[in-house]
Amino acid sequence: MANDTRPGRRQERLRVRGVALPSEEWAEFWIANGRLTREPLPDATTVVDGGWLLPGLVDAHTHPGALRPGDPLDPALLRRHGREHLAAGVTLLRVPGSADRLPAWFGAEPDQPRVVSAGRWLGVPGTFYDGWARHVGEPELADAAVEEARASGGWCKVYADWVVGEEGLDAPPLPVGVLTELTRRVHAMGGRVAVHAQTAAGAEAAVAAAVDSLEHGLGLDPALLERMARQGTALVPTFTVWETFEQVARSSGSERFRSWFRAAHARLAPLVSAAHEAGVTVLAGTDSYGTPELPHGRVAGEVRHLAAAPMPAAAALGAASWTARAFLGFPVLDHDAPADLVAYDLDPRTDLAVLRTPARVIHRGRVIR
Ligand SMILES: [Zn+2]
Repeated sequence: MANDTRPGRRQERLRVRGVALPSEEWAEFWIANGRLTREPLPDATTVVDGGWLLPGLVDAHTHPGALRPGDPLDPALLRRHGREHLAAGVTLLRVPGSADRLPAWFGAEPDQPRVVSAGRWLGVPGTFYDGWARHVGEPELADAAVEEARASGGWCKVYADWVVGEEGLDAPPLPVGVLTELTRRVHAMGGRVAVHAQTAAGAEAAVAAAVDSLEHGLGLDPALLERMARQGTALVPTFTVWETFEQVARSSGSERFRSWFRAAHARLAPLVSAAHEAGVTVLAGTDSYGTPELPHGRVAGEVRHLAAAPMPAAAALGAASWTARAFLGFPVLDHDAPADLVAYDLDPRTDLAVLRTPARVIHRGRVIR
């Protein structure tokens, strides 16, 4: 990243020191030009002196910029949502689908997190919301996925199924052949594929197609976890959104849908625990939209869900920090890495509640809080 030379934007030289995670080593870094260095800068201001240092947090599944199904992306809302994430120490977002392709400034400006995006939500008619998803027929899906991955500079997001009521339970998932060809094409151009799956059949198709990440995974058969670990398909269970789905289920009027959801939801925690045990990369994603029920900047809550699954606290924390960063191609705290970090007074592994109150957030070499 180029040095920011605009007036009033001069970067200070900073110093941070504390126990770095995940290495657990006592670390001392200086910060200049948005990067960490181990070479002392004599005129630096010390902004973290002790405590724990983590690579900036990651929400691997969030949808900033539009609140209601059908709404277009609102630049003012996008900016506000980005700042809400950043204030909570979330310096990197993966946005698996949005109403429109995200503007270039989002993810690039000093007061905004870094962003890995996936273009528009992509599905066959009948999946996701009209006016939000880019709906195309099965024969066109691979071309559209390549377009979205190219436009986003990385990912595409595809619906293998869609359950918001009883009818979704009977709809066949996207055929494995379609998903496999789509994944092959996107991988061939250097992109990656995130797949929404709520049903057993949808999750099975996603795993068979060897996609890069399985979003939600409510109905995923635990027998597929070993294969996911082997082929590198990550699981993003989004516990946070399912908390709010209980309300959806209660008001749905369909007993069949309610009992399906409750049974699948009850299986999710043991599934996530088993996924971690099997070596699957489990990531923290909230599926937040910025509504009162699903506000941004709450990845700490998702970490607590992962830990309660149970996953070891360090692994749950890594799912929202170093593990997610590695999965998305971003470095951890090291010499010459971007100066995106969050600091806590207490060890977050022994008390995840401290995630709510970072002592410091530093992003692109600047103190955010
Ligand atoms: Zn989502």
